[in-house]
Amino acid sequence: MLDRGDVGNSWRRERWDSLRLLTPNWQTRLPGFRYDGTDPDGFMTRAEVLAFVERFAAAAAAPVRPHTAVTSVTPTDEGYEVATRHGRIRCRTLVLASGACNLPNVPALQQALPASLESLTPFTYRNPGQLPDGGVLVVGASATGLQLADEIHRSGRPVTLAVGEHVRLPRMYRGRDVLWWMEHAGIWNQRYDEIDDLTRARRLPSPQLVGTPERITLDLNALSAAGIELVGRFAAVRDGRALFSGGLRNQFALADLKMDRLLDTFDEWARAGAPAPDVAPSERFEPTRVPASSRLELNLASGEIRSVIWATGFRPDYSWLQVPVIDRKGHLRHDGGVVDAPGLYAIGLPLLRRRKSTFICGAEDDARDLIAHLAGYLAGTGGAP
Ligand SMILES: Cc1cc2nc3c(=O)[nH]c(=O)nc-3n(C[C@H](O)[C@H](O)[C@H](O)COP(=O)(O)OP(=O)(O)OC[C@H]3O[C@@H](n4cnc5c(N)ncnc54)[C@H](O)[C@@H]3O)c2cc1C
Repeated sequence: MLDRGDVGNSWRRERWDSLRLLTPNWQTRLPGFRYDGTDPDGFMTRAEVLAFVERFAAAAAAPVRPHTAVTSVTPTDEGYEVATRHGRIRCRTLVLASGACNLPNVPALQQALPASLESLTPFTYRNPGQLPDGGVLVVGASATGLQLADEIHRSGRPVTLAVGEHVRLPRMYRGRDVLWWMEHAGIWNQRYDEIDDLTRARRLPSPQLVGTPERITLDLNALSAAGIELVGRFAAVRDGRALFSGGLRNQFALADLKMDRLLDTFDEWARAGAPAPDVAPSERFEPTRVPASSRLELNLASGEIRSVIWATGFRPDYSWLQVPVIDRKGHLRHDGGVVDAPGLYAIGLPLLRRRKSTFICGAEDDARDLIAHLAGYLAGTGGAP
């Protein structure tokens, strides 16, 4: 196992200070290893995630070679040659576990921003203290954007939040964490080959969730009630002005509709099966409130906004992979983690084999399936994806 940093590198170096998991402790598990503390319904801080991963690595006696960045992977007659800072390794099979979130997915319009604005991504943002005083434009209203907008607004800076497509979820539903429902009603275990539009499903933004000790729901209603201004998708920069799309009402209606459909699915499951006895009655939530008027443009040169945070998603970095398995859009070509090249595998990508694939708890089932395939490949018996 090669890593360019230490064990848990992404949680050690690439997360902002206040981040907690949005998945509860009881759900934080790795193969043969689960949370054993006193707060199963809590949410780990960044430091706690790191400690958890380090304990797992020690318990599994994982043969990690830290500080060994892979600089290229090339195909050979028997497999692959992996070039690292400390020499070359030849292998018959190779598992790409380099993460789904190596780079911020910043739209090209960033280049049109006035140079006077501070521009940050979730990789460079650590806490509000590093921002200049004054207004902040947060672009993107999924888990990252909502959490950063809330934290920055609490620091006393006016925040404008540009909202595009998003997945709305309440933190708690019928007295249980919404991820309890996702797991027990079977949604998170849905397999990739059961999903109608897999390409689209793989690109869905992260759910609007935050992990806090109070288990609050951090949705757009909560943010606008706190005084954060909501505007539409950041669509263009023209003559020093940010232009926002006008489709907020539609975006909200769609997210509310999808949330209600998901809650219907939970209710149906609860009716059909035997859920835990303490599940509360069915409930529905207030629709997302549409602002009376939302600005369609903002003068970026007026001084009203001093910094922009791009919470516009993440993408993997395969710049070192010299194997022709990346499609025109930069995505890895694979079938449930079996990459389109002999003996090459991937793990940890969105909806790789299941809806939960990109979450910590998704690794166990995906790893089991892929190892079976990999072992079959090495034994010369092949294996079904
Ligand atoms: C902001 C954020 C919040 C998240 N919140 C949650 C959450 O609440 N719950 C949850 O379950 N999941 C969450 N996730 C997803 C979470 O990151 C994953 O579940 C978990 O970290 C995935 O582990 P991984 O090993 O697949 O990828 P990573 O943690 O990204 O690890 C990949 C490793 O590969 C190494 N690497 C990359 N390129 C190279 C190279 N060329 N050479 C050598 N090494 C390399 C990196 O150093 C890194 O250590 C979150 C992700 C982000 C970005």
